[in-house]
Amino acid sequence: MLNEDLKNEVDKARERLLKQLEQVADKTIILRSSDLKALYQRIAQLPEDQRGFFGQAVNQLKNELTQLISEHREAESALPTVDVSAPFALNSQFNRRPGLFGAELGSCHPLSRELGLILSIFRSMGFSAIESREIDDDWHMFGALNFPVGHPARDDYDTFMTEQTDKDGLPLIAPAHTSSMQNRVIARYKENLAKNEPIAVVIPGRTFRNEDVDARHEHTFYQVEGVYIDKGVNIGNLIATLRTFLQSYFGNDKLSVKTQPFYFPFTEPSLEFSLSCPFCNKQGCSICSFSGWIELLGCGMVHPNVLKEAGVDSKEYQGFAWGMGVERLIMMKYGIEDIRHFESSKLSFLRQFSAGGEA
Ligand SMILES: [Zn+2]
Repeated sequence: MLNEDLKNEVDKARERLLKQLEQVADKTIILRSSDLKALYQRIAQLPEDQRGFFGQAVNQLKNELTQLISEHREAESALPTVDVSAPFALNSQFNRRPGLFGAELGSCHPLSRELGLILSIFRSMGFSAIESREIDDDWHMFGALNFPVGHPARDDYDTFMTEQTDKDGLPLIAPAHTSSMQNRVIARYKENLAKNEPIAVVIPGRTFRNEDVDARHEHTFYQVEGVYIDKGVNIGNLIATLRTFLQSYFGNDKLSVKTQPFYFPFTEPSLEFSLSCPFCNKQGCSICSFSGWIELLGCGMVHPNVLKEAGVDSKEYQGFAWGMGVERLIMMKYGIEDIRHFESSKLSFLRQFSAGGEA
């Protein structure tokens, strides 16, 4: 056999072995491959004068393969160690902390967004805003508002109480209305009156009632209370203030309002305030139960006893107050059919109010 033929034989085996080397994960397996074994067995089968030449070629091939395997091993060990406990891909090609997620992935809750809008309208009308509290005492919830102990109207405000008690031994209360803040804001701002300035405050807050929950009733909901005290205030000012707010909030200056007598211990007279249906312009639709009107909130002239409890002379000053349900306003504005959506954390509901949605 010619040396050239022998060389070809080794070259062909080399080609196959290099190909295999690329493909296998454990490179050392190549040194035990049947191809290489066959070459070594072949040495013994050749005539003596050819063995030297062939053996050398086979050894060269084996050395080449060994060299390639060790180069590969070195390249592998040069990779950085993987920290499997890292909170992000520490050794990824990016090798850096992830950036903040884009703000478009989250959105403001519709209650926060609409509450912000409501307060900005009242601020533009000259009102200050003070947040309500989520736990209060019996006196602020009832006593300061002309509901003495035993007053039957207390039964209309069925809410949650704690085992902890106030200084009179009465349980602390999760407020059923933001009116529990009236005494505080009148007392806090009564110096305004001495300076010939009105008390004009809105009080947003979370309120609680022991309700049977359904599409129109929640145990937890938001109210915005309003209090305005000055000399010469009358019920026409109350109606004009609320109408101006509602026309601005609904972006509809054709909205009309109507009132009918109601009863609250802390206002005299007390009124129930209705708004012409913004969906049908008084023509009647399912949202307004085909009446053309939607009952919206309770309001009235501040009772003299409430002014007296806060240290304001009720002969000199008068005022009005209201409490309105925030969810109800938002539901009317956007045609939302179920109040429970607000506390449900349903993304399909919340994402309708994300940036880029209806503003
Ligand atoms: Zn309607």
